[in-house]
Amino acid sequence: MVEVVSAPRILDGVAIAGEIKAEVAQTVREMTAQGHRPGLAVVLVGEHPPSQIYVRSKIKTCGELGLYSELITPPTSITTDELLAIVRELNARDEIDGILVQLPLPAHVNTNRILEAVDPRKDVDGFHPLNGGRLLHGAPVEEVLAPCTPAGILQILKRSGVPLSGTRATVVGKSNIVGKPMSVLLMNEQATVTVCHSLTQDLARHTRDAELLIVAIGVPGFFTADMIMPGATVIDVGINRLTGEAELERFFPPDTPEYKNRIEGFRKRGSTVIGDVDPRAFAICGAYTPVPGGVGALTIAMLMSNTVKAARFRRGL
Ligand code: NAP
Repeated sequence: MVEVVSAPRILDGVAIAGEIKAEVAQTVREMTAQGHRPGLAVVLVGEHPPSQIYVRSKIKTCGELGLYSELITPPTSITTDELLAIVRELNARDEIDGILVQLPLPAHVNTNRILEAVDPRKDVDGFHPLNGGRLLHGAPVEEVLAPCTPAGILQILKRSGVPLSGTRATVVGKSNIVGKPMSVLLMNEQATVTVCHSLTQDLARHTRDAELLIVAIGVPGFFTADMIMPGATVIDVGINRLTGEAELERFFPPDTPEYKNRIEGFRKRGSTVIGDVDPRAFAICGAYTPVPGGVGALTIAMLMSNTVKAARFRRGL
């Protein structure tokens, strides 16, 4: 059984992402001095506003950490074959170590064909089946390009000293980008893993049994205190935007400090972000990742880390 602690420990994703970025910047300086500056190419199709924001932030972080970066912006009308040609050209260029095709792609483009066309050695998103297969076959995470969000969660857990070996872990959500690879990474760390999804019967029985609970379903505040084992470590992957003040008040009652922290920003921006865990449930956790400031902070740091890793492997460094 997990011990119940009086005050939950906040697992600070921003601080851990900062550590990882500092390590990446140091490696990039050393590689650049040896004539091996790592390079990332990002392909952004069309004008999808959230994708534009993510991509801008990825390119900016490359600059901050000293990586070479390149942005390719074909129009929404691009065909699968034309996009395949762009990917193949990037595959062939020696100074490009990482290729990221920002998702979602327009509906008429065959996403799987595009992702499978990326050279697995340059697959910094970790979405190529070869890299997924290597993880599944138990390759150490240090030796594989693993998807950034679950790889970032593993960094949070390891750097925070959360025990994994022998731990009962429940992952809720089985998407290819979060839940599935997360469950494999945990299995490879010798955790005992249960994976749940939208048709799981008696979900709360599985979540309450977890010493480590990782939730990624995209439903705001879904996991309430009665679904969590007191003292458990809870990783909240969800990123959900609340736009109604009544909703905000439901999760952050007006007489609480959390409400006071949020309301000003909410009135300025017209929204606030919460995870899949009801914020009032964090009080019973042993440790948890806040939203914002938890898992989300790690994703770009891990992309940078994967690009450096891809460069080291491919260039034999
Ligand atoms: P997704 O592809 O929509 O997958 C959602 C998963 O949750 C599915 O497996 C679905 O089950 C399951 N699910 C949905 N409703 C459920 C319910 N009521 N009970 C149990 N399971 C349920 O989502 P995703 O891409 O994995 O993202 C999940 C969340 O994480 C989203 O909020 C997303 O914004 C966030 N996210 C955050 C980051 C980050 O950097 N922090 C990165 C990626 C995603 P079925 O398989 O049965 O449909």
